Amino acid sequence: MNNKIKILDEATIAKIAAGEIIERPASIVKELIENSIDAGASNIVIEIKNGGKTYIRVTDDGIGMNEDEVEFAFLRHSTSKISVAEDLLNIHSLGFRGEALASISTTCMMETLTRNISSNKGIRVFLEEGKIIKKEPIGCPEGTTMIAKDLFYNTPVRKKFLKSDLVESNHISDVIYKLALGNPGISFKYIKDSKVILKTPGNNQVKSNIYSVLGKDFIDNLFEISYYDSDLSIQGYISKNDFYRGNRGHQYIFVNGRWIENIELTKIIENCYKSLIPINRFPIFILFIEIEPSLIDVNIHPTKQEIKFSNQNKINNTLKQLVNKKLKDIISIPKIEIND
Ligand code: ADP
Ligand code: MG
Repeated sequence: MNNKIKILDEATIAKIAAGEIIERPASIVKELIENSIDAGASNIVIEIKNGGKTYIRVTDDGIGMNEDEVEFAFLRHSTSKISVAEDLLNIHSLGFRGEALASISTTCMMETLTRNISSNKGIRVFLEEGKIIKKEPIGCPEGTTMIAKDLFYNTPVRKKFLKSDLVESNHISDVIYKLALGNPGISFKYIKDSKVILKTPGNNQVKSNIYSVLGKDFIDNLFEISYYDSDLSIQGYISKNDFYRGNRGHQYIFVNGRWIENIELTKIIENCYKSLIPINRFPIFILFIEIEPSLIDVNIHPTKQEIKFSNQNKINNTLKQLVNKKLKDIISIPKIEIND
């Protein structure tokens, strides 16, 4: 091996950077939907084929892009969402790193159709290896369609590590269900191998949204919790003590609309249920935390699923009280059979 230190070429750097964000088809679906949400979409349609390995399409009716914005959108570190470092302290959008489209376009064949709301014509671009290879005007509705085909066509080793269509599409469904649950004001339609799997109303009604994503069982066994003050709001639903699961798959925390993982908050809720549900069983909850963006740090991990709260103690205590109080009201005592 030649040990001489050197700077990697641009194409290699791009592939390494893409690897941090694009692990599997579900990562692409997540980034594209988040862009649609940031673009102010009311309707988002997602279509996938073969577990997303050969085809992913996300269409939105958001603000769209004009011609020069499209040119920029696929460059690394290009974003319309922040401008200076201080903006990182006050993030209102789901994206801000300006890396997703650059990464997706180096790992897939891409096609984009978009029309900005102020423009009377749309534009279509085709990309290969992260570069625009063809650009043409096209008639299309306002909004954006992103198509990503043949994931990892140019990195056979990574392609080999992809799992079966079923496993990959389960990961995608998981992403879509989370984003749909967290955004009751947006209608999501999810088409998998030509079948409509999910359609949410987008009417901003949290309960009817939960119904369409998770089903009736959940509605019947979940109870509302609610807390407001001037700098914190915690709204959501927690399960009755006789409605639980064998894993944490139905525990959802959204902070300012972003799905996050936070083991501290998860443990706090689980502790409230400790003596109420069997061991190794997990309560169900859907929490919507709204908080001043300057009180959280989302710039911790490339996938933005972890965040830091500057007032974690307050949130912990508030949540604990809220859940304990509700549980007192809704606890169902196991029925005792009396034989006489
Ligand atoms: P980020 O979301 O972090 O800004 P991306 O690479 O995901 O970075 O997107 C780059 C830019 O492309 C965005 O900042 C936005 O201006 C534009 N863009 C991407 N997707 C859309 C979309 N669906 N609608 C409108 N603009 C979009
Ligand atoms: Mg983005």
